[in-house]
Amino acid sequence: MKVIYTAKDMQELSIQLQRQGKTIGFVPTMGFLHEGHLALLKQARAENDVVVLSIFVNPTQFGPNEDFDTYPRDFKRDERLAKAEEADYLFYPSVDEMYPGQASISISVTNRVDVLCGAKRPGHFDGVATVLTKLFHLVQPKRAYFGKKDAQQVAVVHGLITDFKFPIELVAVDTVREDDGLAKSSRNVNLLDAERNEAPALYRSLQEAKQLVESGERDVATIKAQIERTIKNNTRGTIDYVAIYSYPELEPLNKLDGQFIIALAIQFSKARLIDNIIMAI
Ligand code: AMP
Repeated sequence: MKVIYTAKDMQELSIQLQRQGKTIGFVPTMGFLHEGHLALLKQARAENDVVVLSIFVNPTQFGPNEDFDTYPRDFKRDERLAKAEEADYLFYPSVDEMYPGQASISISVTNRVDVLCGAKRPGHFDGVATVLTKLFHLVQPKRAYFGKKDAQQVAVVHGLITDFKFPIELVAVDTVREDDGLAKSSRNVNLLDAERNEAPALYRSLQEAKQLVESGERDVATIKAQIERTIKNNTRGTIDYVAIYSYPELEPLNKLDGQFIIALAIQFSKARLIDNIIMAI
C-alpha cells in the first residue's frame, strides 16, 4: 500500500489508473479506523480493481464549538489496518493541501439539510459536500462507499453526485455494531466508562421502536416518546434529537408510511453519538 500526501500526486495517479482502464473504489474517512470503515474497505476491495482510502479530518465540516481538536487520530494504526484490508493507496493530505489559501467558491447544500444533523450542525453538510467535491476530482472513483450510520450524509452525497453529474456510483453499507449493539464510531473512545456502559441504550431504543412499528403502531409522536423515555431512563446523555422522517426524502411524517428513518443524536460529555434504523411498511 502506498501513502499519497499531495493532491497533485493523487490526481496524477488516478488519471494514470483511468488510462489503464482500472476501476477505482473510494472510501473517504476521517481516520481512527474501526470495523465500520473496514466493512466499507472490504466491499470496495471486492468490487473494484483499485482501492483508495482517504484519511482527512476535514475542518470545514466541524462547527466552532465541535470536536475538531479532540477528534481521535492515530495514523500509524490506521496505516496498518488499511494495509491489512489490502487497500492499494492511502490518500493522507494535510489541511493546507486540501484548503490552500482563500477559497473562491463555496458549496452550499440546499436540500434535506434543515432536519436531523443538518439542523443541529449548521454548515456541516456544506463542509462535507465541499471536501467530497475536491476528493472526487482527485480520486476519480467509479464507486464511492459510505456508511448508512450517517444516513443523512448518504442522502446529501446522493444529491451532490446527481446535481454535479459525478460519474460515480454511491454504495451505501450497513452499520457495523459492537456486540452490545452500539454503532461503531471513532468518537466512542471519547465516552467516559459509565457513558460507554449506557450507550447501548441508543440502539436498544431504536429496536424497541422497530418492535412497536412491527406490532402495528403508526403514530410518529408515540414512537418518538418511547425512544426518548428509554434514552432518558438509561443514559445521562442529553437528547439532541429523536426524529422520524421519510427516507431518503427526509420529509416530516405524522403517520408512518413507505420507507422511513428513525434517527437519534445524543450528546454525552465529550462525544455526540448518532444512530438510526431505516424501515419500510
Ligand atoms: P468517518 O470517518 O466517521 O467520517 O466515517 C467514514 C465513513 O465510514 C462514512 O461513510 C461513515 O458513514 C462510515 N462509517 C462510520 N461508522 C460506521 C459504522 N459503524 N458502520 C458502517 N459504516 C460506518
